Amino acid sequence: MINLFRLAYRRVAALRSPLPGALRAPLARTGLRLTVAFLAVALLLPLVGLVAIREQHAASLRAAQIEAENVAEQVAHMVTQPVGTGRALLYQQPARLQQYVSGVNRDGNRDLEIVGLDRRVLADAVPANQGRFFAEDRGGEVAATMRDGMPRAFSELNADFPSGIELVAVPMRATPHKIVGAVLLEYTPLYRKLLAAGGETRQIIVTTSLAGMGAALALGYLLSRGLVRDLRRLTRAADLLAAGDGSARALVGSRGELGELAGAFNTMADRIAVQKAALTDLAGRDPLTGLHNRRSFEERLAGALAYADRSGTPVCLLMLDLDHFKSVNDRYGHPAGDQVLRTVAALLVRELRAVDVAARLGGEEFGVLLPGIGQRDAMAAAERLRTAIARCPVVHAGATLMATTSIGVVCYPWHARTGDQLFERADDALYHAKRAGRDRVSGPPPQPAGR
Ligand code: GH3
Ligand code: MG
Ligand code: MG
Repeated sequence: MINLFRLAYRRVAALRSPLPGALRAPLARTGLRLTVAFLAVALLLPLVGLVAIREQHAASLRAAQIEAENVAEQVAHMVTQPVGTGRALLYQQPARLQQYVSGVNRDGNRDLEIVGLDRRVLADAVPANQGRFFAEDRGGEVAATMRDGMPRAFSELNADFPSGIELVAVPMRATPHKIVGAVLLEYTPLYRKLLAAGGETRQIIVTTSLAGMGAALALGYLLSRGLVRDLRRLTRAADLLAAGDGSARALVGSRGELGELAGAFNTMADRIAVQKAALTDLAGRDPLTGLHNRRSFEERLAGALAYADRSGTPVCLLMLDLDHFKSVNDRYGHPAGDQVLRTVAALLVRELRAVDVAARLGGEEFGVLLPGIGQRDAMAAAERLRTAIARCPVVHAGATLMATTSIGVVCYPWHARTGDQLFERADDALYHAKRAGRDRVSGPPPQPAGR
């Protein structure tokens, strides 16, 4: 049965879940466990209701028994009292006794019977039964009461009473130690009356336990569905993160532990993203100047060209090379050369716009990307950079150095169709500037025929 249920649950989970099988199985197990737990709790409620109803039946029977026993005791007392002029007790006077029993039956609507030790009926609710041999005591309960003097309550279920009757038998004593018979009282009507009075309570118990079961089932279903859904989201987010998707986050509806777990997971994913970004940035930086390195610059250039294509705007590339840098090193030493490189880098950052990108492409060669402007503006910007560098004194170890730079300027889409071509053409322009005497800006030289 449980296996059947498990199978059905897996089928449903498999239909709804886009997760791979390896993840689905543990989640299906969680859902199944929750469902079984709530089913057990839900079934417990009607069970408690049944116990309460049983207890109510037992209490009604007990109350009716006590009441019947009291009445029978009173009758037993009355019939062992002297009545009339002589010393004869009531039970010894058949006519008076029958009259008394008939009276009690009429008043209380009770089925009363008095039996003597010789098992003759001394008086009965039906007067014709008087003097008849008492043969109905099949369980021997009345005989036992007359023998040991203990009151007894018992049920009779036979052909005469197919739905069963409830009886009490109490001893009848002429003196405290002399049992002379038994009083038999049927109290079924009283018992039924008490049961009927509790009908409304039973109705409430049944309704409440069924409603409770329904509520527990609905709550269990909603809770387990929510939990399984959130667990699935969390697992999926972890899976995506493990596969390299740094943007994967777990969006769960649950609060409490599961919500905290999702929160912790998301914080961890945020930190990983920040650290990854820092590492990526570091990997794309030149350690001496802090500018982009060649690899990062090439990526930026590809992005800028794609954007230029999409937006129909131009993008210009400047290639800078310090003039006679070898002699700077030779004259002032390598550290002084490094200081010049750092100063030029800082100058580029200062002079450029936020959207521009500056990089150290290698040695004493720099690249600058100017998105959104054409050849004329790019030439002007290059000229501004050249002048700034030429005018910037570099102080190192007490010596003041001056550096100049040559700059080649090319523009996309006019001078090249690809990034590689653009680099090539910028190199040509730079070479042209060097050839023309250095410390100057040059656009691309006219291309020789066939190139
Ligand atoms: P040109 O005007 O033709 O460009 O002459 P140049 O001397 O600048 O060109 P060349 O390519 O002959 O020399 C480049 C020098 O740059 C050689 C090398 O020692 C120096 N250099 C390359 N990388 C670094 C570096 O990281 N630090 C320092 N201090 N010097 C470097
Ligand atoms: Mg060089
Ligand atoms: Mg150089």
